[in-house]
Amino acid sequence: MSETSEDCIFCAIVAGDIPAEVVASTEHSVGFRDLDPQAPTHVLVVPRRHVPDVGSLGEASPDELADAVGLAARIAADAGLPGYRLVANTGAAAQQSVFHAHLHVIGGRELTWPPG
Ligand code: AMP
Repeated sequence: MSETSEDCIFCAIVAGDIPAEVVASTEHSVGFRDLDPQAPTHVLVVPRRHVPDVGSLGEASPDELADAVGLAARIAADAGLPGYRLVANTGAAAQQSVFHAHLHVIGGRELTWPPG
């Protein structure tokens, strides 16, 4: 697994090469606001190193996946959310558009089920 990938927008955000509104971070993960929020709280949590999707992260490094989920929980708690949704679109067929693992932390409005 490489540390970073050229032409990866989330690697550039982690490196501080392009701006993002970072809300919280750990040694392994960074949380920043989604550019196109789908809810009042919509934060992306990404591992610092480049991995294409969350499943690959879990296989390669369970500790880093756990770190990302823990950071997502802290972000939701800090936002005062009574509940929240973690979404990991995985693969183009599931609408993944950025191929650097990320968790969407979504909340602050009523969330319906099933998702679209
Ligand atoms: P996905 O479609 O699951 O791969 O999610 C990618 C998300 O990244 C989308 O919700 C985009 O709005 C978001 N996004 C893309 N570029 C940026 C950026 N530069 N800063 C913040 N969010 C971004």
